[in-house]
Amino acid sequence: MEQPRYRRILLKLSGEALAGPKHFGLDYDVVTEICRSVKEAADLGTEIAVVVGGGNFWRGRSNEKMDRTRADHMGMLATVINSLAIADALEQLDVPVRVQTAIEMRQIAEPYIRNRAVRHLEKGRVVVFGCGTGNPFFSTDTAAALRAVEIDADIILKATMVDGVYDSDPTKHPDAKRFDHIAYIDVLNRGLGIMDSTATSLCMDNEVPIMVFSLEDPRNIVRAVLGESIGTIVQN
Ligand code: UDP
Repeated sequence: MEQPRYRRILLKLSGEALAGPKHFGLDYDVVTEICRSVKEAADLGTEIAVVVGGGNFWRGRSNEKMDRTRADHMGMLATVINSLAIADALEQLDVPVRVQTAIEMRQIAEPYIRNRAVRHLEKGRVVVFGCGTGNPFFSTDTAAALRAVEIDADIILKATMVDGVYDSDPTKHPDAKRFDHIAYIDVLNRGLGIMDSTATSLCMDNEVPIMVFSLEDPRNIVRAVLGESIGTIVQN
């Protein structure tokens, strides 16, 4: 059997990736397809923690009329909807899974407890972290960076709508160049929008590499876990 390159990963899924062609809300078939690849990756023996965004429902920063803190609370709740959908799809595929939320909602999920999360991972359970960091003014990318550091993940696999890090926005500049590798400091200095600066700095300071790749083909998750060169690696 093929060997995974990484012992433990933090998979960051953007909310948008769960919406499918409607570009809003959840497409359960799309979620199931993604979870099939998560199962395949877990079956290789790699331990998997997941942080999911909420942009398919709500992003706090996009509503300028609302109080930002309240809008961010709504965004964090959106991540819980996505976390529960992922947990459900994984369970239907017979993958053991636990959801932990950074804001307590004990009737729905476990509260986030780092040691307990690590224990679940060691037992082969997928752990889905909901509510981001639990704080407004942060993003789920920062939550992914924070949880990756806390659980000592080998890498963040950032599965998103673009297939890597470019020197300019590829949707606006057809001649944009994609990097195979780029240093964190260059992502920061060039203002490349692939991750916010808080998330990138946290990864830089704690030396957690990030692999950015497209989720258009969900099997890219398996390729990434096997260490294939897809997308862009951000590291020192
Ligand atoms: N959010 C927050 N604190 C966090 C993580 C997320 O307040 O630690 C809120 C914020 O409003 C954000 C929303 O949740 O816009 C959804 O997260 P994000 O925008 O990162 O989702 P993605 O773009 O990855 O789908």
